[in-house]
Amino acid sequence: SIFRFYGGELESWEEMAEEEIRKSNYGGFSGYEEHKNRNRADEVAGKFFKIVAGRLHDLLKENDFDLLLLGGPRQHVDGLHAAIHPDLDQRLAGTFTVDPATTTPANVAEYCEELAAAHDQGHEEALVERLFDTARSGGLAVLGLHRVLEAANQKAVDRVIIQAGRTSPGNQCSACSWLVDHDVASCPACGEDMRKVPDLLDALSDVVRASGGSVSNVLAETPLAEDEVGALLRYAVRVTV
Ligand SMILES: [Zn+2]
Repeated sequence: SIFRFYGGELESWEEMAEEEIRKSNYGGFSGYEEHKNRNRADEVAGKFFKIVAGRLHDLLKENDFDLLLLGGPRQHVDGLHAAIHPDLDQRLAGTFTVDPATTTPANVAEYCEELAAAHDQGHEEALVERLFDTARSGGLAVLGLHRVLEAANQKAVDRVIIQAGRTSPGNQCSACSWLVDHDVASCPACGEDMRKVPDLLDALSDVVRASGGSVSNVLAETPLAEDEVGALLRYAVRVTV
């Protein structure tokens, strides 16, 4: 079975087990195993893996997905893994070993949630590491709310990375959306009136998205907790602090 996560729920995406294989004239996979006809079973298994791998690749092309998890008996997982397209391998977030005879969709959901969470955490840690490495080496990155706001005001933020434990209020220009973390009488950029914003990081996220950048919220424990926010930049900006 091919399952997919959709809106936080695991749902059956496609059933393509035995019926499809039988239709393809390759015979029953498990039947051959039972008969201990090793060579024939391996051949059938190889074709089976190719079919499943091909179908997964079609699904990827039809509706792009982010993560792929493979589960089943170890030999099937390894066999299928060996057969998948490099584009699928890139999305492979983990594998798990289960006995299909006793596994329920709820078990599968549990394995998938665990693996996806572990994958996300690793991904977040790597992202924060890249941010710090880039900032430390004087590359295109800034750390701390003040610097990130200045970069965002100059539309230089490619990706803002947020790990904040609290909200900080600030001010935003009602005309050009310029953001500042202190009180000013009028917009430093265009001179229009400023208005209070209760959560600067919220307003920052909107400004970054509006200028074509992306927003990553980090949930894992990382060193970013101290600075709360950092950004990878598109080009160098002048910052005042
Ligand atoms: Zn303004």
